[in-house]
Amino acid sequence: MNLKDHIRGIPDFPKPGILFYDISPLLAHAEAWQVAIERLADAIRPHKPDLLVGIESRGFLVAAPLALTLGTGFVMVRKHGKLPGDKVAHSYDLEYGTDTIEIQSDAVKPGQRVVVLDDLLATGGTMAAAIRLLQQVGADVRAAAFLIELNFLQGRDRIGVPATSLMAYD
Ligand code: 5GP
Repeated sequence: MNLKDHIRGIPDFPKPGILFYDISPLLAHAEAWQVAIERLADAIRPHKPDLLVGIESRGFLVAAPLALTLGTGFVMVRKHGKLPGDKVAHSYDLEYGTDTIEIQSDAVKPGQRVVVLDDLLATGGTMAAAIRLLQQVGADVRAAAFLIELNFLQGRDRIGVPATSLMAYD
C-alpha cells in the first residue's frame, strides 16, 4: 500500500507559500491508517521502549494507537498551560519569539526508554525541544518517529537521536 495516496497537499496553509501536508485522509481510511500504525510499530519495536511520548496535538494521534499496539504506556508533551499538576517546562526559540512545552513531573521515571512521536518532521525544532525536555526529566530517548519527513529541511540532523519516517518528500 502506498500511504502517500492518503496524504493531501494543501497550498498556502497556514501562510501563503507553504504547502501543508494534511494527514486527515490517512486518519479517515481505516485500512491505510492501520497499515501506517503497523509499519511504525515495526520500526519502533527494536528500540524496546517503556513509553511512547506524543507531541501536541497530532503527535497524540500517532502515539496513542502505537502505544496500544506495542503494549507501552503513553505520555503527553503539551503546550504551556494545558497540563494539570506539577510540571517541568522547556522553552525554545521559534522563527519569531519563543514557545514553551511541558510534561508532568512524574510522567517519566529516570532511565525509562522512550520513543517520541509526531506526525511530521519539518525543521526539527519541535522534536528537538521535546527531546531536550524529556532528557531534562531523565528519560533515555532512544528514537523519534514520524509519519512524514520533509527531507529538504534536514530536520533529522537537529534532533540528536535516530529518526524514522514512513513517507518523505523532497
Ligand atoms: P518543525 O518544528 O519540525 O519545523 O515542524 C513540525 C511541527 O509542525 C509538527 O508538530 C507538525 O505537526 C507541524 N507541521 C509543520 N508543517 C506541517 C505540515 O505540512 N503538515 C502537518 N500535518 N504538520 C505540520
